[in-house]
Amino acid sequence: MAGEVSLVLEKIDGIESSQDLDALIRREVSARKGGSREPDPSLCPSCGEKNIATSKFCAECGAKLIG
Ligand SMILES: [Zn+2]
Repeated sequence: MAGEVSLVLEKIDGIESSQDLDALIRREVSARKGGSREPDPSLCPSCGEKNIATSKFCAECGAKLIG
């Protein structure tokens, strides 16, 4: 009986840790994606110039900004 209980506990432990690992990997991947390619509406789609967040047109080339 005691052996059976520990076997079940071992299984539960394994499932929990694998879910934790999966969640951890997903968090890591999304964090890395967001860090390297952050969508910035102030970036000019035409020339790539970084503009003020509130500006509607690019200060460098005059193209209309997304944000
Ligand atoms: Zn521009």
